[in-house]
Amino acid sequence: MNNTSPSAAPLRVLIIGAGFAGMGLAIQLQRAGISDFLLLEKASDLGGTWRDNRYPGAACDVPSHLYSFSFEPKTDWTRKFAPQAEIFAYQQHCADKYRLRPRIRFNTEVRHAQFDAEAGLWRVTCVDGAVLSAQALVSACGQLNRPLVPRIAGLDSFKGEAFHSANWNAEYDLTGKRVAVIGTGASAIQFIPQIAPQVAQLHVFQRSAAYVLSKPDRAYRPWEIAVMRRLPWLQKIDRGLKYVQHEARVLAFTVVPKMMKAMQLRFHWHLHRSVADAALRQRLVPDYPMGCKRILISNDYFPALVRSNVEVVSEDIESVTETGVRTADGRERAVDAIIYGTGFAATDFLAPMQITGLNGQDLNAAWKEGAEAYLGISVSGFPNLFILYGPNTNLGHNSIIYMLESQFAYVLGCIQQLAQQQLRYMDLKPTVQAEFNHSLQKAVDHSIWQQGCNSWYKTASGKNTVNWPGFTFTYRHYTRRPELAHYDCIR
Ligand SMILES: Cc1cc2nc3c(=O)[nH]c(=O)nc-3n(C[C@H](O)[C@H](O)[C@H](O)COP(=O)(O)OP(=O)(O)OC[C@H]3O[C@@H](n4cnc5c(N)ncnc54)[C@H](O)[C@@H]3O)c2cc1C
Repeated sequence: MNNTSPSAAPLRVLIIGAGFAGMGLAIQLQRAGISDFLLLEKASDLGGTWRDNRYPGAACDVPSHLYSFSFEPKTDWTRKFAPQAEIFAYQQHCADKYRLRPRIRFNTEVRHAQFDAEAGLWRVTCVDGAVLSAQALVSACGQLNRPLVPRIAGLDSFKGEAFHSANWNAEYDLTGKRVAVIGTGASAIQFIPQIAPQVAQLHVFQRSAAYVLSKPDRAYRPWEIAVMRRLPWLQKIDRGLKYVQHEARVLAFTVVPKMMKAMQLRFHWHLHRSVADAALRQRLVPDYPMGCKRILISNDYFPALVRSNVEVVSEDIESVTETGVRTADGRERAVDAIIYGTGFAATDFLAPMQITGLNGQDLNAAWKEGAEAYLGISVSGFPNLFILYGPNTNLGHNSIIYMLESQFAYVLGCIQQLAQQQLRYMDLKPTVQAEFNHSLQKAVDHSIWQQGCNSWYKTASGKNTVNWPGFTFTYRHYTRRPELAHYDCIR
């Protein structure tokens, strides 16, 4: 692709990021007959989350038949919850089938985008100096794309091997090593059981315990795959049933938090069954209401923690030294490697990109009190900018791909309206954004996420800018098509 000089003809759509979001929208654009688009991807391959998170045990925690595009069903998932390699292969399959690769410019990181109101165009500058313009700019950068390493004193002084789970160093052989894992979130509980039998000693530094339930995972039997392949409608029914089953959980998160009590019983049963040592069990019981942080699923996490070479450390970390990790009680554990299972900077959204809208407004400045958008997609003052997996569109209970597919319909509708109404730009009305976010935050206030815990769903000041506080089918209804009355439409 050589559409990189400012004089090159502007594109109709420019998409930043080639994960599930960017790829899915690109396929929908093609299906709608729109071919004048390009994806910019900072990495050398597509896939986003599933390209980066290659740690041992990485897998989805929403069933694969639901965690895949509805328009590209895969009948032969090998397990109920597919491992990373299989999800990544599915993404490659989608890219090949829909001939997306020629439309992706790899190794191209967007640094800055500025809206030119006169021309009705976004001018996009990349780190390599390339400049492109397009009428519509779509951010498909994901929420869980910027690994977060905690600010711990002495972190850089450590002389051993250190890496984040999203940048797993597969070259480093953990066999027989003394290893510290910092963090006990969704990724850590997947890789800890995988590495525990391999290492000499594993110290698991836990800041707060997680609610972990059993995972209804198993390999599909050959006959199940054969039946699914021959009768694709069965796959659709299966997907539908899984959707309903997951969707029902939102009641416990947002409508009747008391319903969580039943899930809490399941947690205690799972913990009891897996951990005989009462003292350890006590340290594995969270001190916040269930659901306030992400609920995790695993069958092998608790059993890994009871191994004789595994220690759960719940004292606060004071510092990292040249040779290990020191806790607040003054004890230092010498280790050869530190693995950060500390998650992502989810509330940063489009940062570190600089996005400049009408009248020189900077998006990061506009969001300094916490990101917000209309339906997570449109931001007033930033015309023709559409965000996929934007503010308050993450889920604690169902598949992100369902949310993305809702967004595809809305964004495609906006792009079509720009042409049909011959608009230079469409800018969300500030009142629409304010009213939407006022009621959204009211719903968030009633949710379990606000019942007394800190989590990656929230900004430093405690505002939940990450999760959608409702049913996903309601979100689908809201996003079924854009309402032009919500926008200032400029010709
Ligand atoms: C380990 C892990 C497990 C998960 N499991 C599940 C699950 O089971 N179910 C579920 O629903 N969700 C899950 N998620 C959430 C997951 O992130 C989403 O489901 C989905 O993959 C998001 O897709 P995306 O395309 O929006 O973002 P990403 O997959 O993050 O892709 C964003 C892309 O944008 C690129 N990019 C970013 N900035 C720039 C830039 N400035 N210029 C150019 N390119 C850029 C990135 O390189 C990346 O390729 C999981 C997340 C993680 C980290």
